[in-house]
Amino acid sequence: MKQHKVLILGAGAAGAAAARVLNASQEVEVTVIGATGEAPYNRTLVNKGVAVGLLTPEQARVPGLDVVADTVDGVDPDSRTVHLASGATTTFDALVVATGSAPRALPATVRGADVAGAAGLLTTLHSLQDAVRVRDRLAGRSARVVIFGAGLVAAETATLLRDRGHQITLVARTDMAGTSAFGDHVAARLRDLHERNVTTQFGRAVTEIDVADDLLDITLDDSTHVLADLGIVAHGTSPSAPGPWYDGVPVDDRLRSAHDSVYAAGGVAVHDDPSLGTWRIDHWADAAAQGEHAAKSVLHDLGLDADPGAYLPRSAFTAQVYGTTVAAVGLTGGHTTASLTSDDPLVVRHEYSGRTTGVSGVDSAIQVFEWMPRLHAEAHV
Ligand SMILES: Cc1cc2nc3c(=O)[nH]c(=O)nc-3n(C[C@H](O)[C@H](O)[C@H](O)COP(=O)(O)OP(=O)(O)OC[C@H]3O[C@@H](n4cnc5c(N)ncnc54)[C@H](O)[C@@H]3O)c2cc1C
Repeated sequence: MKQHKVLILGAGAAGAAAARVLNASQEVEVTVIGATGEAPYNRTLVNKGVAVGLLTPEQARVPGLDVVADTVDGVDPDSRTVHLASGATTTFDALVVATGSAPRALPATVRGADVAGAAGLLTTLHSLQDAVRVRDRLAGRSARVVIFGAGLVAAETATLLRDRGHQITLVARTDMAGTSAFGDHVAARLRDLHERNVTTQFGRAVTEIDVADDLLDITLDDSTHVLADLGIVAHGTSPSAPGPWYDGVPVDDRLRSAHDSVYAAGGVAVHDDPSLGTWRIDHWADAAAQGEHAAKSVLHDLGLDADPGAYLPRSAFTAQVYGTTVAAVGLTGGHTTASLTSDDPLVVRHEYSGRTTGVSGVDSAIQVFEWMPRLHAEAHV
């Protein structure tokens, strides 16, 4: 007889990883709740696989995870009850919130964006449905694609679509997208790469989008008009949780929320801890590592395992951008400060309170990855 009932909300990177750890315990009954009508899938394949037609949506699925597909409408942490869209309720002894993030839309001040979206000519690129929309719109032709944003997902998507013969224009309010994620050095290199490889409209905001003859007519704030067959909004993500949290679940260094027996991990978790300040990472490997850590904290708090200690981000990611590789490990954003370690190849160290918390670089993955075991312990040099 399993003694403790643990619910996991969300079946993505963090939720699946938490389930793997908890399922190994004989004492815990684990239920993973995912969105209604949705089977678990690997979100990193949305742009790299499905949108460009390399994979079908079915091939992006993550097999082997039992999920109750019933969207969570809200949580009552005091009575330890979860309310589901079907009208059902379920209770828990411990809860891991792993509901990820939501894509940011264009500002509400952009006239006509809703009409363009309803016409299927303007989309975010976050879900499998978005990916299918992009794939179908671009199938069998060389199209003009405007991407709003110039961060990593925008850069990767621009690269993938350009390599398939589409004409890409990036529109971004700033000419240094990615500064908050990587600091100025990598952001400046990213800007140069964009400028050498696609059409850029940096330092420009979109004011209006008209739909005419199955085309977008996009007006920028200097009155420039850009015509496009498709617009993709890549303005990053915001944490997304059911109530009572809605826009992210604040957690401590054990991934515990302020509510007893409630934990959060991955893109939904907003961390605040003494050694790193306030931070959030929305990458696949780090979400999975957080999911594992939250599960270990659950087991500890149920009296079933040792304290896993403070969570310190060390995971790596890479992105292929116009034939170069952007790589990073650990925490490179948040309140860290960036300092140049090497200009060629570019390696940047990110510090908080005199410790190296992360390293990023361009075409320097080996040098960047070498830092992984030394993160968080390294004294200020
Ligand atoms: C286009 C794109 C490309 C990316 N490429 C990379 C990459 O190359 N490398 C990388 O490291 N990261 C990449 N990322 C980021 C990465 O996918 C995310 O950081 C990661 O998926 C976060 O994991 P998570 O578990 O927090 O959230 P998710 O994986 O998004 O999982 C959240 C789950 O919760 C479910 N959910 C949400 N709300 C509810 C609810 N109310 N009830 C029930 N279920 C709910 C969702 O349906 C989803 O299944 C990419 C992201 C995008 C959008």
